[in-house]
Formats: sequence, C-alpha cells, structure tokens
Amino acid sequence: MFDLHGKVALVTGGNGGIGLGMARGLAQAGAHALLVGRNAEKSAAAVRQLQDEGLQASSLEADVADEAAVASLFAQVDGCHGRLDILVNNAGITIRKPPEQMALDEWKRVMETNLTSAFLCCRAAYPLMKKAGAGKIINIGSILSLFGAPYAGPYCASKGGIVQYTKSLALAWARDGIQANAVLPGWIDTELTEGARAQVAGLNERVLARTPAGRWGRPEDLAGIAVFLASAASDFVTGAAIPVDGGYAAA
Ligand code: NDP
Repeated sequence: MFDLHGKVALVTGGNGGIGLGMARGLAQAGAHALLVGRNAEKSAAAVRQLQDEGLQASSLEADVADEAAVASLFAQVDGCHGRLDILVNNAGITIRKPPEQMALDEWKRVMETNLTSAFLCCRAAYPLMKKAGAGKIINIGSILSLFGAPYAGPYCASKGGIVQYTKSLALAWARDGIQANAVLPGWIDTELTEGARAQVAGLNERVLARTPAGRWGRPEDLAGIAVFLASAASDFVTGAAIPVDGGYAAA
C-alpha cells in the first residue's frame, strides 16, 4: 500500500531541511527522488547522501518562482523520466519584519517563492499526471497557515493561501485521479528556523513550552506523512491540510 517503486517524485527545496527529510522517505519507499533547488552544490551533496544510502536520487536546478525556469524544469523531467507521479511543493523562505517595515519587493519575494511557485509547478505537472490518470500533489503549508505571527505577514499570507489553493486543486483534478493535500509542519529544526531562533528572542523556549511533544520537530518527522500522501494508501484523501506538529495546533 505504501510502495513507491517505479514512481518519480519531484521535491522542490529537496536539497535540505524538511524537503530532504521527505525526499529521503519517498526514496526509502522506492521512488526516484528528484531534488530541485537553486544551489547546485547543495543539491549535489544531498543527492550523494541519498545515493550513499542506496537510494535513487538526482537533482535539477531551478528557481521555482520563475515561470520560464519552471517550464524548462518540467520539460527536463518529461525528457529524462517521461513521467511525474509525485510533486512536493516545499521550497519556501521568510523575511522577518513588522508589517509597517515590509517593502513591496520583500512581500513579493516571499509570496512568489512560497505560493506562486506551487501554482507554477502544479500547472506544469498537470499534463504529465493527467496523461497517467494519476498523481499526488503535496503542498507544504505551516502551522502559520492557521496561526498568525506578528513578524511574518507575507509568510502567513502565503501559507494560508497554500491551504485554499490545495482545496481548489483537489476539486479541479479529483476526476483526473490526482489527489492534492497540504502538510502543515510545526516548529522543525532546519536552516530556516535557525535564523528565526537567532532573530527572535525567547523563541526556542516558547516553542518547547507550547509544543505538547516537548521538542522541536526533525526533518525526518515529515517522511511518514509524505509517503502516506504519495502512496495508494491516500487515494481517497484529497483537499486535506494535515498538521505534523507534535500537537501544537491542538493545544
Ligand atoms: P530550508 O531553508 O532548510 O529549505 C528551504 C529550501 O527551499 C532550500 O532547499 C532552498 O534550496 C529551497 N528554495 C528556496 N527558494 C527557492 C526557489 N526560489 N527555488 C527553488 N528552491 C528554493 O527550510 P525548511 O526545510 O525549514 O522549510 C521547507 C518548507 O517547510 C518551507 O516551505 C517552509 O516554509 C516550511 N515550513 C518549515 C517549518 C520549520 O519549522 N522549519 C515550519 C513550517 C513550514 P536552494 O537554497 O538551493 O534554492
């Protein structure tokens, strides 16, 4: 039910953090993990790590906020593999500032990286998935899809948008055999949150106190949900937004 042998899984931002955690899980279940990022060296190192573990992986460089780059990326996927079974829209950034200090360019950079990229990649993946009569889309939101944060206006807006966009995809493409779901990670220890911990005083203590599990999440905590949402086990699950947060959203 969870077997992914023969499947191709593209993970944006798959060269580190949560993306690499999910890509590893998908590859361990049998998929070929296609890691997409902008930093070729980081991607090559991540591919080597997975291959050293006996897993199937390769990488492609693209800025997923760029329409032409996304078109070229999916043309390469079609050319190399002739199929795309699983798309994980995970690439994301944040810029921490109070709303009154946020520049328009900063707002756009976050929205385009976190939300527009998902639109561009889903639209480009659709013909491949429709042709196959099946497909799995996993969009990475956040617990900040549900809660606000005073220093993260465009991040919260983009992550709230991911949930609503996922519901639209689910409705539009259900009859094509494509399921689209969102995953809402809680506080996970990655490069992104290293920055937050350095910038936001008391964040570490607040996260530990507020998270019922009593710890930060780890990238590998996201592997199980990725495999579930990528496999036949979730064929009747679509349009959902699932927290993976050590109980944060329930508290
Ligand atoms: P990281 O900063 O560790 O990883 C982000 C990844 O996105 C990098 O691999 C980066 O690769 C890639 N990326 C960024 N911009 C682009 C772009 N324009 N085109 C292609 N790739 C891009 O972050 P996390 O692993 O922490 O976050 C992953 C996702 O999870 C994000 O969407 C984030 O919002 C979400 N999330 C994270 C949480 C956490 O606590 N860590 C909590 C909730 C959600 P490269 O540098 O090579 O471009």
